[in-house]
Amino acid sequence: MKQFKCDQCESEAMHIVERDEICHVKGDKIIVHEAVRLCDACGKRVFDRVLDSAIFQEAFEIYRTLHGRQLEPDCHL
Ligand SMILES: [Zn+2]
Repeated sequence: MKQFKCDQCESEAMHIVERDEICHVKGDKIIVHEAVRLCDACGKRVFDRVLDSAIFQEAFEIYRTLHGRQLEPDCHL
């Protein structure tokens, strides 16, 4: 298994938290429930391709439900 490392302080101690995050998608505010990986030492978010892509998928899905069409969201995390 790949070891994650904080690019801020290089700590390898980290935890995953679940929280609600507001995504801005083409002028809409979409709230997604996301899991993010945070560094234990400095609290900075650590990039996790699997977790982060799941957040985008959820935002896509909610947008499609709201508007009945699919669009590439401009999602700022
Ligand atoms: Zn850190």
